Amino acid sequence: MFDVQKIRKDFPILNRKVNGKPLVYFDNAATSQTPQQVIDVIVDYYTNYNANIHRGVHSLSQEATDAYEQARIKIQKHFNAKQPYEIIYTAGTTHGINLVATGFTSLLNKGDEIIVSALEHHSNIVPWQMLCERTGAILKVIPMNQDGELILPEFDALLNENTKLVFVNHISNALGTINPIEYIIEKAHSVGAAVLVDGAQSCPHLKPDVQALDVDFYVCSAHKICGPTGVGVLYGKEEWLQKLPPYQGGGEMIDQVTFEKTTYAGLPHKFEAGTPNICGGIAFGAALDYMNNIGFDTIAKYENELLDYGTEELLKIEGVKIYGTAKEKTSVISFNVGSIHPYDIGTILDKMGIAVRTGHHCAQPIMDFYKIPGTIRASFMFYNTKEEIDTFIVALKKAIMMLS
Ligand SMILES: *Cc1c(COP(=O)(O)O)cnc(C)c1O
Repeated sequence: MFDVQKIRKDFPILNRKVNGKPLVYFDNAATSQTPQQVIDVIVDYYTNYNANIHRGVHSLSQEATDAYEQARIKIQKHFNAKQPYEIIYTAGTTHGINLVATGFTSLLNKGDEIIVSALEHHSNIVPWQMLCERTGAILKVIPMNQDGELILPEFDALLNENTKLVFVNHISNALGTINPIEYIIEKAHSVGAAVLVDGAQSCPHLKPDVQALDVDFYVCSAHKICGPTGVGVLYGKEEWLQKLPPYQGGGEMIDQVTFEKTTYAGLPHKFEAGTPNICGGIAFGAALDYMNNIGFDTIAKYENELLDYGTEELLKIEGVKIYGTAKEKTSVISFNVGSIHPYDIGTILDKMGIAVRTGHHCAQPIMDFYKIPGTIRASFMFYNTKEEIDTFIVALKKAIMMLS
């Protein structure tokens, strides 16, 4: 049985007050909160075995190396990657995307085509634009409909023998749409294109199986999955990781260095120059343990209840318009009320202890599509409750009264 009150005890931050009111944290799509079990792992690392990894013969260094590599194996198992070295530690989703986009500079030619979706986060648009500038490749966009779903026949029409790469997020951070990545991967592969999936928003809500998906690259950030900031992973199929050149030069990523020539280390070290976020990697593993202990099916079921309840309650309020009404979506509600500026509502909600996101959510093209400056976004995780949604609805009604 899923007991949300018991779960909430794991998250010390949920006890605090903001502006004198109990915190209602609905900004989970920006970053999730951290359970005590993960905080303990971080404290334990710095209290007991902080050392640099892969280098020292001394005990502390070996303990740190073991824990860091064990965490990699945990992450590998979680994503069902074939090999641990197909999991590359990164600083997060943005870093993973840039690593791949930079690597493709030497693999693309003028006139090659790259496809992205209209639903992307800026971090999955800008690196590809930069790649196109460097290589002369052409960027094409899969359009979306009013519900915030990608229009698949238009995607089919974009594909041809020049298509080399397709990039799409698994779940949109601005609207919550779950994209049909199985279909997109299969179609892209039929013309020989590689696919990178941005899993920053999906990993908190579901457990991707990279082998079953047959995806070429999959990226995510730990901080959206109950882990710390500044760490994430890039999954890459071995054949692709072998083909890509190193991203950054430095310690740890080399085999032999002379001033004439340097040879690179094998996977995963080729992509892991310098001292990494050791504690972050270990804590990422602990965060996945925490989530898996609850179970992703349980999490999804409960979060869907929150989504349905929140949607229903919001739509009872006059003037509310929800953006992102895809059939398949996760617990993100993006909305506006009449012509009130989202920022004004967000500011008043904060005074009442409620954290929501307002603005364009790093997805300006989506806002342009709907011809709005931004939205208010409430995003739920498994530690949120229906009672919190009630508090939010009451506060929202107050804010609307004050502003109209
Ligand atoms: C948060 C997010 C990112 C960026 O993640 P960082 O941890 O800031 O690198 C990219 N894509 C999507 C869909 C996101 O939600």
